[in-house]
Amino acid sequence: MNNIMQLGKSCCGCSGCEQICPKNCISMKPDHEGFLYPEVDESICIECGICIKHCPILTDVSRCNIPKVYAAKYKDRGSTFKSTSGGLFIPIAKSVLSMGGVVFGCAYDENLVAKHIKVETEDGLYRLQSSKYVQSDTRGIYKQVKTELENGKEVLFSGTGCQAAGLRSFLGKDYGNLLITDIVCHGVPSPKLFKNYIDYMGKKLGGTLTSYNFRSKEKRGWDLYYKAENGQKSKSDYGFFDPYYSAFLYCKTYRESCYECKFANKNRVSDITLADYWGIQKFHPEFFDENGVSLVLVNTEKGKKYLEKIKDKLEIIESDYNKASVMNANLVHPSKRPSCRDSIYDGFDCGNFETYAKTKLAFKINPKTKIKKMIPLGVKRFLRKLR
Ligand SMILES: Cc1cc2nc3c(=O)[nH]c(=O)nc-3n(C[C@H](O)[C@H](O)[C@H](O)COP(=O)(O)OP(=O)(O)OC[C@H]3O[C@@H](n4cnc5c(N)ncnc54)[C@H](O)[C@@H]3O)c2cc1C
Repeated sequence: MNNIMQLGKSCCGCSGCEQICPKNCISMKPDHEGFLYPEVDESICIECGICIKHCPILTDVSRCNIPKVYAAKYKDRGSTFKSTSGGLFIPIAKSVLSMGGVVFGCAYDENLVAKHIKVETEDGLYRLQSSKYVQSDTRGIYKQVKTELENGKEVLFSGTGCQAAGLRSFLGKDYGNLLITDIVCHGVPSPKLFKNYIDYMGKKLGGTLTSYNFRSKEKRGWDLYYKAENGQKSKSDYGFFDPYYSAFLYCKTYRESCYECKFANKNRVSDITLADYWGIQKFHPEFFDENGVSLVLVNTEKGKKYLEKIKDKLEIIESDYNKASVMNANLVHPSKRPSCRDSIYDGFDCGNFETYAKTKLAFKINPKTKIKKMIPLGVKRFLRKLR
């Protein structure tokens, strides 16, 4: 078999193969867990091997060696409040748009399905803000990126490491007008699991959800708080107290390929990598901010040039890789696969998230975490001052 099917469960789901096949004989189909995998129509396939040659898992893409490391915050605090960490993605995106360019990144559609979309104006950027802890659908997106690049537009593509590598492999060459940012990634749960969860949350609130933010800063500032809304009511709580979020944080529900991710290290495939600067209180306490601090890795000359362009919009200090990775394990290695991953997806099916949520497999609160998170924010601020 000289086609992408030989990849099996190592596939990261970037969908580059579907988009590059000259015979259009590959389609991405969900498996029983809800993750997309390629299916090849063998009656049309000519075994040309192009899908293999352009697969980011089966072939290597160029990587940087040693990134320059910074802690940074976007000076526009209102915008950063809506972002996950220090809000760096927005000024980078605005700078590309100001050159008449376009931005590709992950947004929710009207049914809260995470998909990559194209944004052409500043007022559309809010849709890309904030992390969606679920695998985003990139079907058809690499082709759109290529069209824009060949039309001479400046393009910013933002995604996970495997999506960034997928794009590089799909394009097969570098474009001077392309900037890629990636995020440090823990791993991604399936869209089907997320859909079940959203429906379950909707029922709990008494109506279909209209928005869901994994990183709402309204209650506790820069932390792991979610906010679910249905237009009339909202629910907000700490991620570890929620069945979907907690399983995500404990690495229980990721795509199989995430546990062997070859992009979870310092040899990045993008120009700039963005993340939360967890541990900032320890290494640069003077730079801590309740509104969030970004970790920024500048991986290429192009990345350096873009960061230079927006420097006056940032507060920024130099840091180093060893400090940055102490509390961000995925900068060094992929998430560890827990043994419960074998059966975690067996515990739910459409409409049955409630039963799943009750199983200890999905959801177990650590009492220490519970006590820590019950400390009011004011007390936390006071204790911070004492340190
Ligand atoms: C699944 C996932 C796992 C993550 N794991 C870690 C981690 O272990 N450690 C860490 O420090 N940071 C992690 N992050 C990154 C972090 O949460 C922030 O996205 C990052 O700090 C950028 O924040 P910001 O404030 O600059 O921008 P924001 O305004 O928050 O911008 C969000 C950016 O992330 C992109 N994005 C959002 N959701 C997705 C998605 N599902 N797939 C692809 N791209 C997406 C958007 O396109 C946008 O470019 C993860 C993000 C995701 C989506």
